Amino acid sequence: MPFDALDADLDARRVANLYRQRRVLDSPQGATVDVDGRRLVNFCSNDYLGLASHPDLIAAAQAGAARWGVGSGASHLVCGHSAAHEAMEQRLAAFVGKPAALSFSTGYMANLAAVTALVGRGDAIFADKLNHASLNDACQLSHAAFKRFAHNDLAQLERLLATTEADRRLIVVDAVFSMDGDCAPLAEIVRLAEQYDAWVYVDDAHGFGVLGDGRGSAIGIDSPRLIYMATLGKAAGVAGAFIAAEAVVIDYLVNMARPYIYTTAAPPPLAEAVLASVGLIEREHWRREALAMHINSLRAVLAGAGLMPSATPIQPLLVADSAVALRLSQCLGDAGLWVSAIRPPTVPTPRLRICLSATHDAGDVEHLGRTLLTLLQETR
Ligand code: PMP
Repeated sequence: MPFDALDADLDARRVANLYRQRRVLDSPQGATVDVDGRRLVNFCSNDYLGLASHPDLIAAAQAGAARWGVGSGASHLVCGHSAAHEAMEQRLAAFVGKPAALSFSTGYMANLAAVTALVGRGDAIFADKLNHASLNDACQLSHAAFKRFAHNDLAQLERLLATTEADRRLIVVDAVFSMDGDCAPLAEIVRLAEQYDAWVYVDDAHGFGVLGDGRGSAIGIDSPRLIYMATLGKAAGVAGAFIAAEAVVIDYLVNMARPYIYTTAAPPPLAEAVLASVGLIEREHWRREALAMHINSLRAVLAGAGLMPSATPIQPLLVADSAVALRLSQCLGDAGLWVSAIRPPTVPTPRLRICLSATHDAGDVEHLGRTLLTLLQETR
């Protein structure tokens, strides 16, 4: 058969407990979802503020579709850049305190676009080893020298900066690490960039809307060297991403970034939904307060069990191997709790990855904590 080799690869994955499968949802995204005929409390979603199904976003998308139609028709540089996209970019730039912004259909595309446009042969990238896969792919694709430093190891970063000859130098980090939930020391990284004449590209997919009073992880770090990227499909509850930076950087990306230039602009109704979302992120502080309450409640349970919880909505629970991760995820599912098992190659160490949301019920978070404790005792 023509695809025997693929079949064999998939079989090897099954044997190693690394086979991946999608599950089909039969409800809108939310704190609880319908999946496989059951209602589960959803602890896997990045909908941290519970905005993905918010009536204001739905109304804005509906009104946007009525006003603009659904499809954008072309790439931004041809004729796909609507006043809705323009208004969204201006609003996002102002919200995160940068002179200009550029929107993308996905965060993956934003990372590919920015990194491959900003650096190439003769340049150097300095990247945290736990950066998101899309950043790693972008760095590989750029053809710049790709220097990786141990997770959050500023001393190693400094050594690399001090000893690497290159034309342009780009430090690339996640602001909140997507599989561990911990944060990069951005202020110190920007200080090193200033000292060694580098630029800093920050992926704040998991901080925007949540940290910095909603304005993200980089708020208060006032440096033109910092190029800020955030996604709009997580806390913002829609889809897409934006990069906010000095106007010259944005202009450069519009002119040079191939994954920006050669793709159809996102549907304008989504830009209207993002505008509605930014309003809620700005006004509704109670969402971040509720999220903080859930984080603290689960942290207390995990710390009490000798684990190392994070301070963000992403809580990793590292386990011995992929089989254990799958079994724990299955047991949690039996208790009505959906927690995903994350395995290599996505992460070096298999784990459960718990994601909290403002719209979770406090009782459900307590139920998760109690169930985890029982399962961990049985596993040890
Ligand atoms: N960066 C990080 C840190 C992410 O977690 C993700 C999403 N998994 C992305 C980028 C990609 O964003 P998107 O899903 O919008 O493509």
